[in-house]
Amino acid sequence: MKNIFTLYALCLAGLINPLLAQQNLKNPDEFLGYTLGTRFTPHHRVVQYFEYLADNSDKVQIQPYGTTYEHRPLMLAFISSPANLARLESIRQNNLRRAGVLEGRVEPEEPVSLVWLSYNVHGNEAVSTEASMAVLHALVEAEDDNIEEWLQNVVVIIDPAVNPDGRDRYVNWYNAVVGEQHNVLPEAREHQEPWPGGRANHYLFDLNRDWAWQTQRESRQRMQVYNRWLPHIHADFHEQGVDDPYYFAPAAEPFHQYITEWQREFQTSIGLNNTRYFDEKGWLYFTRERFDLLYPSYGDTYPTFNGAIGMTYEQGGSGRAGLAVLTSQNDTLTLTDRILHHYTTSLSTIETTANNHQEVIRNFESFFRSSSQRPPGKYLSYLIPAQNAPDKRQALREFLNLHQINYAEASAARNFRGWSYADGRESSFRANAGDLVISARQPKAVLVQVLMDPTTQVSDSVTYDITAWSLPYVFGLEAYATAEPIATRAPAENRAYALNINAENPYAYVLPWQSLDDSRFLAELLQQGIKVRYSLEPFTTNGREYGRGSLVVTRAGNQHLGERFDFLVKESARNWERPLQAVGTGFVAQGKDFGSSSIRYINQPKVAVLSGEGVSSLSFGEVWHFFDQQLGYPATILGTNYLDRVQMNKFDVLILPSGSYAGIITNDVHEQLMNWVRSGGKLILMADAVNAFAGREGIGIERKKAASDKEEEGEDNMELRLKTFASSEREAISSYNAGSIYRVTLDPTHPLAFGYEQEYFSLKTGTDSYEYLKGGWNVGTIRSEKAHMSGFVGEQAREKLANTLVFGVEEKGGGEIIYMVDNPLFRAFWHSGKLFFANAVFFVGQ
Ligand SMILES: [Zn+2]
Repeated sequence: MKNIFTLYALCLAGLINPLLAQQNLKNPDEFLGYTLGTRFTPHHRVVQYFEYLADNSDKVQIQPYGTTYEHRPLMLAFISSPANLARLESIRQNNLRRAGVLEGRVEPEEPVSLVWLSYNVHGNEAVSTEASMAVLHALVEAEDDNIEEWLQNVVVIIDPAVNPDGRDRYVNWYNAVVGEQHNVLPEAREHQEPWPGGRANHYLFDLNRDWAWQTQRESRQRMQVYNRWLPHIHADFHEQGVDDPYYFAPAAEPFHQYITEWQREFQTSIGLNNTRYFDEKGWLYFTRERFDLLYPSYGDTYPTFNGAIGMTYEQGGSGRAGLAVLTSQNDTLTLTDRILHHYTTSLSTIETTANNHQEVIRNFESFFRSSSQRPPGKYLSYLIPAQNAPDKRQALREFLNLHQINYAEASAARNFRGWSYADGRESSFRANAGDLVISARQPKAVLVQVLMDPTTQVSDSVTYDITAWSLPYVFGLEAYATAEPIATRAPAENRAYALNINAENPYAYVLPWQSLDDSRFLAELLQQGIKVRYSLEPFTTNGREYGRGSLVVTRAGNQHLGERFDFLVKESARNWERPLQAVGTGFVAQGKDFGSSSIRYINQPKVAVLSGEGVSSLSFGEVWHFFDQQLGYPATILGTNYLDRVQMNKFDVLILPSGSYAGIITNDVHEQLMNWVRSGGKLILMADAVNAFAGREGIGIERKKAASDKEEEGEDNMELRLKTFASSEREAISSYNAGSIYRVTLDPTHPLAFGYEQEYFSLKTGTDSYEYLKGGWNVGTIRSEKAHMSGFVGEQAREKLANTLVFGVEEKGGGEIIYMVDNPLFRAFWHSGKLFFANAVFFVGQ
């Protein structure tokens, strides 16, 4: 493949001899009208080029797989020999049979390996998509005989832009600020991307943290097609800081312990093939540092846990680099160089796979065979008792379906010994017929154990992401893990939802308050102008017990809606499949009657969320996505640059996401906000926003110790953390908590914790620690060092986090300040925490 460089140079210079080119297809330069690397190409032009080649070559097929939130098309290009493309569906099915996810025997056809190349998951790492066009062209034109041969042995699947919304945000901005001559000085405007930057998607989610959780539209659509293919190799193209050279596999420790010897070896083979080209050209690179393989939601780990060789490629550059930038070594890093490097590793990865395709396929097959017969971890079965709340069980089932993880239900009652997630230790438990069982003996064995294991072994604690994500905690489920098999039968179909209300014109409708779906129902009613109340105390009516927070929708107060009242309430109940009940009287068997002051009227809150420079774009995006996509309730987005001019009396609730607020919450702004709170406003402070207020006048929360205050901020988050690791003082680990699970003791009598029981398992992503409130409600607290359940936490950090506040409410005049030290909306995947947020918005202070 020595002449991939020459090919590339010719391609860039538009000099490919048309006589040599079999089909005389336009190269990217000819098609775009400028030399690749001299401009950033908007997404629609990239799509056009891919479609152009697909229309004019029998070696490419395009398959659209969805659209983004901003309605840009998502697509894959399949590149292989015409013969392979003609039997693409049979190649796909054969591959799934090898993995055991599709029934039937593997057809004895010529084996073909699947190499999936994902470009530009981070939008402002904008070289990637440019490189994808050069790669596509090189494969299709294939002047090099080697490439022709590779395409007999592999199907290359190219996703030219995993995150086109973020990428176009960057590209449109850059193209708007660059002059006729670009400027290489890093201080120049074109190297200083404004908030929120192009890295994340529309809702500012990092799609390279979303593979396992699939909270974002792009991820969900992509994972559907990913699971239809299950590629053997997955390479994810990125960029890092401008001063860093190039990174490729082998990855850094820690490797998740279930990664196989073969997976380790083959990523090394691919890395070594890359070194041949980088050495030949004298390009700098590093391996085995920084980018580890532990957290299961990345573009390298998730494919790895699904049998692939998953790898990250990192070029120096990203949003700071523009068309050309001076590095701190006084070298000029150009987009052309960046393209060439990604182009080279792309082709080199295909080459290594093509030359070893039979071995790759054999090992892919054996990954699934051996792990489904002998799962690598200790626990063989995971049990979710049927008495868990139906919404939570359903949420888990839907999640498992996304991953094509099989589940069944226990067929008989029997006692077992195993791990109790709630107790955090081995104990006896009983499986009852009908309980949900996830067996590790299935094709997705490794993924099952990675996601379900109560704790993850960390061979080396320097990892730059959370170290705990066990699903029972994520979904707030009582669960057990055992090393024994549990006898199962096919899972019962979900009973079809039916609203059973026969009473004509009932006195009121009631609904227990247990999950986010209940709050969606409430959000919908409020927006229709329906008056709703919630109960401060448990009550019994119609022979049923209703817990705190249960919704009471009385006819009284809603008469103005006439007959539409019953229709709207029932329609919303059907919409959200709520077990709504009708009652004929306001007199309750136990508890407080519906006219009592304990049945609180919910004023439809007018919500504002702060965004802009200083606010963590990730944290803001989580809040925005929560209101817009999950809750379905309007929130007005405000900007930090004009916060001091906002008439706050237009709003009832102000949410400050995590962020660094120095310079934003000036003394004047602070005073304005405190006056607004005293006159009835509700201020919700999340994570670092708590830190920004602690110690200020009129604020009751106090740091436990001199907090180190070195928290992340938005886009720079990872880079900041990386710098810490690069200096890698091992002692720093002892005061370190990247993300672990804690048992939080709740006060379930406070409205902030309605719908919860005595305990909640919280994902804690830092070490900020606060004393219990003196003059407020300590709704969620960490009571001791033993409250740590899962994930790595350093010795000192553990000590610091004991006896601290997690969720608290301070009343001030007519309003409240709500402290959320842990962020229940983190990456939108911690399902069990979301009801706190709904409680804070709808209940607290009402
Ligand atoms: Zn990246």
